[in-house]
Amino acid sequence: MQNCPQCKIELRIGSSHYEVAGDKSASTPTQLYRITKKVCRNPQCASFEQVVETVKTPIEIGEF
Ligand SMILES: [Zn+2]
Repeated sequence: MQNCPQCKIELRIGSSHYEVAGDKSASTPTQLYRITKKVCRNPQCASFEQVVETVKTPIEIGEF
């Protein structure tokens, strides 16, 4: 888990959703990604409730 660059408190997951890439072309395999946005949870911090980090994790289709 990453920490906020400003206040050094551990970030919390603000939201996550899925994204599909590569389904427009037959030569590109379809790839699913999980997009996780991490926000600062420190009310005293300038980045409070703002997205500090976005993590893009590839997901194997076989996991479903
Ligand atoms: Zn912070």
